[in-house]
Amino acid sequence: MRLNCELEVVYSLAVMNGGGRSASKTTRSKASVCLGKKPVQGPAGGVKRDELYLIVSTAKNVSGSKYKVKNNVTKIFAKFVHEGKATIKFKEPAHDLFISKAEPDKLKELLKVLRLTPQEQTGVELAPLLPTKMQHIEAPKSKLVVKSRGEYPIKGFPSSLERFEAVGVSLNRLDMRLLELKMLQFLDLSNNSIKSLPESLKDASLIELKLSGNKLTEFPDSICIGNLSERLKLLDLARNSLAHLSHKFSNFKSLIQLRLDCNQLQVLPRTFGKMTTLKFLSISNNKLVVLPPSFPNLSLESLDLFGNPFTASGLVRRCSDLSLPTLQELTGRVIKKYRVPYSPYVLPIGLCHYLDSAKKCLCGKACFNSFLHYIANLNLHKVSATVTAVDQSGTTKVPVEAFLCSAKCLKLWNL
Ligand SMILES: [Zn+2]
Repeated sequence: MRLNCELEVVYSLAVMNGGGRSASKTTRSKASVCLGKKPVQGPAGGVKRDELYLIVSTAKNVSGSKYKVKNNVTKIFAKFVHEGKATIKFKEPAHDLFISKAEPDKLKELLKVLRLTPQEQTGVELAPLLPTKMQHIEAPKSKLVVKSRGEYPIKGFPSSLERFEAVGVSLNRLDMRLLELKMLQFLDLSNNSIKSLPESLKDASLIELKLSGNKLTEFPDSICIGNLSERLKLLDLARNSLAHLSHKFSNFKSLIQLRLDCNQLQVLPRTFGKMTTLKFLSISNNKLVVLPPSFPNLSLESLDLFGNPFTASGLVRRCSDLSLPTLQELTGRVIKKYRVPYSPYVLPIGLCHYLDSAKKCLCGKACFNSFLHYIANLNLHKVSATVTAVDQSGTTKVPVEAFLCSAKCLKLWNL
């Protein structure tokens, strides 16, 4: 049983120093950890019997250090075994082995044997220990780049994989086995023919997801919740056929870079401006006619909205007589102003939906049915340090939806 990993050995001097805490550390290095049986002479020249040994080899010490297993493992720390990490403490020599970047499944298997009682260990079938060769001491595979269809791993992926790239190899779906890789953080499947995304993508621990140049027609709500929405920092959906993004898209609360160029989007989700972590945003060459009311909340470093029509202008609709809001509206405004908590447990669900539908006036107050819906002009320099002009003439002003809660605000903002 052989395991490739990174290893740090700490010589516990605690025993030698009469219980002191000092310990000397070696540096972290690539290692091969091998568990197997070795024939040992019995006591007083008795018959030879097989004993379980762990041999740890590094590039500096290929023949390796041997650790007897029977009655010699004092403690195992395996809380992060699913991340390929564990610590094994030995009695003699008094070493702590800090294992990292191992394949989690292989590491689990190895620890399972170490945890057995001496009697159980005797019964374990293991290959005899073979000498370690230099090629055994290699880094666990963390990156895999597939450049042609023929190179695609049919049998599966190393569980230590952190980065996988398969660009332009005619994939028509996202391989579900990739989503089982706990350590995968960077996934680039650009320029393929992927039409839809599986729901289980929501549990992936990805930091970067590149899906540009595919055939996606929708980005499902079901993947806008969960681990992915918490961790993802870069999302590239350029050159697909997305016509709509739901308001749940703004759940991506760590997103720094978002590319939506060359899709079919006519509007952005009303809550788009909730993604305040965004720094780099490009939505060029879509069909946007107006930006959503929350858009001015963004604080970007770079923004590209080139090639959108942006045709909306003026007063869209007058929803109600501004002079006389209903009692329900006034109550709702107060609830929002003082951030009174509410939930379906204390209010009828209809009222909860009503409260959720609040729009924010330019003055910051909430309004519901009594508001003016305006299209204002937003200078994009107000939301981004660097702005690409939206057309050939160099315009950086675009229509943005705005709501006004009162006649006072109408006067104040002078639209
Ligand atoms: Zn107002």
